[in-house]
Amino acid sequence: MAQPQHREPSYREQDAKTITRLRGMVDPWFLARYGMNLYRGCEHGCVYCDGRAERYYVPGDFARDITVKGNAVAVLDHELSRLKEPGFLFLGGGVCDAYQPAEERYRLARGVLELARKYQLPVHVLTKASLVERDLDLLAEINAQTRAILSFSIQTLDDDLQRRFEPGAAPITERLRLLATAKKLGMGVGVMAMPVLPGLSDQPDRIDRLVGTMAELGADFVCGGGLTLRPGTQKDTYLDVLREHYSALVPGYQRAYRSNLASGAPDPRYLARVDARFAAALRRHGLPGRAPRRLFRSLMPLYAEVAVLLEHREFELHQAGSPGGALGRAGHAIQQWARQSFTKRGRRKAFNGTVLEAEFRAMVTAGTLHELPGVTTAAAAVASLLVKEAAAEGAPD
Ligand code: SF4
Repeated sequence: MAQPQHREPSYREQDAKTITRLRGMVDPWFLARYGMNLYRGCEHGCVYCDGRAERYYVPGDFARDITVKGNAVAVLDHELSRLKEPGFLFLGGGVCDAYQPAEERYRLARGVLELARKYQLPVHVLTKASLVERDLDLLAEINAQTRAILSFSIQTLDDDLQRRFEPGAAPITERLRLLATAKKLGMGVGVMAMPVLPGLSDQPDRIDRLVGTMAELGADFVCGGGLTLRPGTQKDTYLDVLREHYSALVPGYQRAYRSNLASGAPDPRYLARVDARFAAALRRHGLPGRAPRRLFRSLMPLYAEVAVLLEHREFELHQAGSPGGALGRAGHAIQQWARQSFTKRGRRKAFNGTVLEAEFRAMVTAGTLHELPGVTTAAAAVASLLVKEAAAEGAPD
């Protein structure tokens, strides 16, 4: 059955032992080096939310039983005081929206932004909530100090569709207004146009209009993507709503998602069509499908910046129809090398991101980067060019 939206939310405070996901890798989509979930469960109650899947172990009614990590800011303060390398703090995604209604009472996201200011770290906030307006002052300060990127998750411009599939989130007009405000304040602004919903918001003209609207508002990038439906609660919840309101579409979904893959991925031919629609719309409106380098230049160690850029180049090749693969694998390999180095040597006092960055530069200068497993000679040459570009560009704007 679809999750009922009428019950008042219940908040349960729970202390967390750790807050940041210190995996030692930077997410090329969100630029996240230090991601976190301040809550578990999300009152926005998006029908398609991946966080509903059993693999995330969110107890109770996902949209109403909200676990609050009451000590999150104190724990994060401790973690950030011991950081070994800089990088973006990322608020968003996973199993909650950090600016859901609970945040009005608990103010954890604001506490995180205050810590970002204290430790001079860049932040990327991804939300569907207008409550983020409360913190624009702080985001603007962080942006002046390091960098703040504010992204909104917007998969449709259709209000009816939004209300039905994102019942607790801010109306689209609110998100667009705040996006324009953040832009005026000088922040980086992005849009996660995902997941577009098959037969509802994934048509070429709708994707084109969505991307065109974001371009007009001054978005710096738009990431698009198709819907995944993991077998179990997520898929069942979605199909219940579909049956109730769009029953004619159900057979098509059953065909596209019949493999019931654990990842929830549909038929790859469908995903390729969605990718092609986004590629065409982004080309037409002159927008990149990933955050441009100027938004993160010099805000993470060079090896991470190069790894992210290699993955972005791979994405551009994919958009242009090239089979590619080598640049993405090289980016991943460099991140794996960094992660393993942190695993092996991270506890040593003298070891930190600066040491690793020097080792990375030495490999590039000596022309030995291709000796890392997964890095081809051609990919190493692209990495070397990216390092040279970084040296030529200097410090961030
Ligand atoms: S806002 Fe994000 S985390 Fe919250 S329900 Fe929607 S998709 Fe899930």
